Amino acid sequence: MDLFEDNFGNTAIATFGFDNAPSHQKRALDALSACHMPKSTKIWNRKEGVRMHDGCLPNNQPQSFYFPEDHPTNLNHFKGMRVILEECGFTNVAKLPVQCGKAFNCKDTSPNASCCCCWILFNQKDFLEQKSALVELVERCGHTAFFYPKFHCELNFIEQNWGSAKSQYGILPLTQNEVQMEQNIRESLDKVDILKMCRSVTHQVLLSIH
Ligand SMILES: [Zn+2]
Repeated sequence: MDLFEDNFGNTAIATFGFDNAPSHQKRALDALSACHMPKSTKIWNRKEGVRMHDGCLPNNQPQSFYFPEDHPTNLNHFKGMRVILEECGFTNVAKLPVQCGKAFNCKDTSPNASCCCCWILFNQKDFLEQKSALVELVERCGHTAFFYPKFHCELNFIEQNWGSAKSQYGILPLTQNEVQMEQNIRESLDKVDILKMCRSVTHQVLLSIH
């Protein structure tokens, strides 16, 4: 993104395509996640000690998951799933289990099922719409991002460029040390010229259409 801004800053919106790798789907530390959340009100943060950012109530008003600092009894405590869901309008939460089984294996997986607190929360709009940290970063900078279909990284034109650079590297003489190796890598990457890159993009676009 820095490279893009240096060359086209404030003149265009970029779309960044990423392989669908689990590491690219990682969420920010303060992201909404229904996993391992306590049902009752208590002092609680995510594992890393980070607080979750606000969610959104069904009427689109922001919903904090923590009581305010000046709350009479629960000052600054995490509200817990029960209170969070009750604030969203669910009335029978008190009787529900935290989650179905140790592995969160609900039998009814329809979005409106109400077998446990975790499943209901998991299916709330704000939780469903939680994006990955990567997408959040790109969008914060005013650009857009998308993921290639799972296991289809070859649709990413950059793979053609890696392939081209690797074949260049393969015909260079053997290296004796890391310094020479780095020189060869840089040389091989530079040999993938802009015309070749444009051809790779066109090729991938045509492949995607078919
Ligand atoms: Zn369940």
